[in-house]
Amino acid sequence: MKKVVSAFSVVAFLGSVSFAQEVNIKNLRQLTNGGDNAEAYFSPDGTKLTMQVTNPKEGVECDQIYELDLSIQNPTFKDLKLISTGTGRTTCSFFMPDGKHILYASTHEGGHACPAPPKANGKYLWPIFPEFDIYVADLNGKIVNQLTNTPGYDAEAVLSPDGKKIAFTSMRSGDLEIYTMDLDGSNVKQITFGLGYDGGAFFSHDSKKLVFRSSRPKTEEEIKEYKDLLSQGLVAPTNMEIYTVNVDGTDLKQVTNLGKANWSPYFHPSDKSIIFSSNHHSVHGYDFQLFMIDADGTNLRQITFESNFNAFPMFSPDGKKLVYASNRIPDKPKETNVYIADWVETDAAEVVQDKQLKKHVSTLASDKMEGRLTGSKGEQKAAKYISSELKKYGLKPYEGKSYLQKFNYKVRLNPHDSASTKDWHGTNVIGVLDNGAKNTIVIGAHYDHLGRNEHHHSTKVNSEGEIHNGADDNASGTAALLELARMYATNSTKEKVNYVFAFFSGEEDGLIGSKHMAESLKSKFPNVLTMINMDMIGRLSKDKALVIGGVGSSPDFGPIIDKTKPAGFTITIDSTGVGPSDHTSFYLKDIPVLFFFTGTHMDYHKPSDDEEKINYYGLRAITGFAARVANQIAEKGQMTFTKTKVETGKRTPKYKVTLGVMPDYTDHGDGLHIDGVVDGKAAANAGVVAGDILIAIGDCTIKDVYGYMECLSKLQAGDERELTVIRQGKEVKLKAAF
Ligand SMILES: [Zn+2]
Repeated sequence: MKKVVSAFSVVAFLGSVSFAQEVNIKNLRQLTNGGDNAEAYFSPDGTKLTMQVTNPKEGVECDQIYELDLSIQNPTFKDLKLISTGTGRTTCSFFMPDGKHILYASTHEGGHACPAPPKANGKYLWPIFPEFDIYVADLNGKIVNQLTNTPGYDAEAVLSPDGKKIAFTSMRSGDLEIYTMDLDGSNVKQITFGLGYDGGAFFSHDSKKLVFRSSRPKTEEEIKEYKDLLSQGLVAPTNMEIYTVNVDGTDLKQVTNLGKANWSPYFHPSDKSIIFSSNHHSVHGYDFQLFMIDADGTNLRQITFESNFNAFPMFSPDGKKLVYASNRIPDKPKETNVYIADWVETDAAEVVQDKQLKKHVSTLASDKMEGRLTGSKGEQKAAKYISSELKKYGLKPYEGKSYLQKFNYKVRLNPHDSASTKDWHGTNVIGVLDNGAKNTIVIGAHYDHLGRNEHHHSTKVNSEGEIHNGADDNASGTAALLELARMYATNSTKEKVNYVFAFFSGEEDGLIGSKHMAESLKSKFPNVLTMINMDMIGRLSKDKALVIGGVGSSPDFGPIIDKTKPAGFTITIDSTGVGPSDHTSFYLKDIPVLFFFTGTHMDYHKPSDDEEKINYYGLRAITGFAARVANQIAEKGQMTFTKTKVETGKRTPKYKVTLGVMPDYTDHGDGLHIDGVVDGKAAANAGVVAGDILIAIGDCTIKDVYGYMECLSKLQAGDERELTVIRQGKEVKLKAAF
C-alpha cells in the first residue's frame, strides 16, 4: 500500500512540473538527440534556430552548422538542415537580420580536414584555431560573403537586434579582443583592450550594450601562463568573469566576481539582468549551472539545478522562450543536447535582495543595538526595527494589536550557582501572513544576543561590558527571516499556506522566547506543516558546508532538501529534532522542524562576531534555499511527523575532561576539523592549532564530531594521551595532558 501511494505521488509530480526547483523553466522540450549540440541561437522572428552539431553516429565528425525549424514537433537528426560546407570545423553561427542568411566561423579555407586541437597536456583548454574566419551563407548553404580575412582567429560573431552591427572576437591585435563591424565587414572597430580572452559577446535588446566573458590575468604568473598558452593557440577557460560595455567601447563594467568560469552570458529581455553559465560554486570543477545576476552585480540567483552542464542560454526575441544546451539525460551524461522551454518570469518581489540582507545585518549588529540582550534597551530597539519592517510588508500581528509578544522568566546570573536567579523578561516579535489557508508554515530566527555579557554566555573571558554584536549569531538568521517575510508578503502569489514569521528573544538564555510562543501556536494554527529555524547562517565556509538539523523529524524532508539545495553546497544532515536552538521548542510539540546552521567559528559568542565577517554570498543562497524548501512543503500540503531517535553513540556523553578546541560541526568524514583552540587548555598546551584535523586521541580513532565526543568521554582528569592530527596533509603526533 505504501509503495503504491509513493509511486503515484511521483507520477503526479512529474506530470505537473518536470523539475519543481527550476521555477523559471516550463514545458521543457529536447530538440536534438545524440552527439554534441550547442550554441543554438534564434532567428530574428524566433521561428528557427541555428546551432553547432557534432554527431559521429550520423557522420558529422567535426562541428558543423545546422538550421532547425521550430515548427517541427519532436525533431530528429534528419530535420536538421546543414548550412556550413561540411568541411573543416565551424563555430558560432547567428542569423543575419533578414532571417535568410546565417553567419558562422569556419576553418574550411585552411583545409578540408577537421583541424586537430593543439596538445593540451591533459589540461582542460580551448583551442583558438587561427584558420577561423567569418562567412555569410544563405539557407541553402551557399557562401555569399566572407567578412574577415585577417590572419589569426576571427569568430564568435553575433548580430545586434536592430540589425545594424556585428560583434565578434579577433586575434588581429595579438590578443583576443571584441570588435564591431558593419554587416558587410566594413567599419571595424576595436571595443575591448585589456589583456585576456575577451569573447563570447552578445548585444543587449536595445543594441546599446555588449555583455561578454573575459579572462583577465592579473598576477605576473597568470599573465605568463596566458601568453604562453595563447602562443600555442590555446586558452584556459578556468578563470572568467562577466563584463558589460557600451557598443562604442565606453563604460566597461565587471558584473561578476565569483571566481572559476563564468561565461556564455545573455541579457534578460529587460536588459536589467544577465543569464550565464557558471561553475563558481563547485568544489570539484565540472558542474555548470545557469545563474542570473542583476547588471549591477547584485542578487545572484540559480536558474538550473539539473545535470552538471547547462550553458549557452539565449532568450527568444519576444522573451518568452529560453534555449540552452544541457547534459540532462541521466543515462547519457556525456551527450549535450539543445533544449527549449517557456521562460517563466520570477516575481521581482521573490528575488532575494542583497541590499536588504546587508541593511538588516548591519543595523542589527551595529553598536547602537548594544548586542540585543534579552530584556535590554538594545533588544527593544531591535524589536522596533523588526516591527517597522513587518508593518511595511503589511503583516498581521500574531496576537492582539502588536507584533510584540512579551514573556517573563527567571534568568540565572551565575552559571555555577543555580540559586542565583533573577526575574527577567523578553519580547518576541511575530508577524503573520494570513492567506486564510488550512495549513501554516512557521519560519523563525532568534534576534537576541549577549548584550554586554550581562548573562555570562560569552566565550571571551572578562568580556563584561564589551558589546557582543552577534552578526552571525543571529543577525544573519534575522535578516534572512525579514527578507523571507518581505518576499512572501509582497509577491503577487497567494500561497497555499499561512506564514508565521517569528523573531525570538531569550534564545541565548535557554530558548525562552520560542518555548513561550510554541505554547500558544497550535491553538491559533492547528495545522503547522513545519517550523524552519535559521540560527547562525552568516559564515558559510569555502567548501560551502551547511548543517541542516531536524531532518529526521519528517520522512518528507530528505527528498525536498535533495531537490532544492544550492549548487555546490555540502549538506550535513543532523537528523535529531532536539538541538541547541529554537526549533527544539516546536519539535517538542510534535511539529516537523528544520534547522539551518553554517557552523561555529572562532568568533562564536565573542565581541568579534561582527558584520564585516558575514559571507553574504552564503546568506543570500541560504535565504533562497529556505524559500524553495518552504515552497515545496507548502505545495506538498501534508507533512508526517516522526520522533527522532537520539542514536547511541551520537548521544552527547558526559565529560570529565575538556580538550579546549572549537570543532567544525560539519561532517567531513575524515576526522574532527578544528576551527579554533582555546588558550591554556589541553589542546593548546599540546600544540594543536586551528586548521588541524584530529584523527585520534590515544588509540581511540575519530571520524567525526560524534567519534570525538565518544573518545573524549572515556578520559579521566590527569590522563595523558597522544593526539594524532593531520596538519597540511601530514600526520603529526602531539602529547596532551588532560
Ligand atoms: Zn548564541
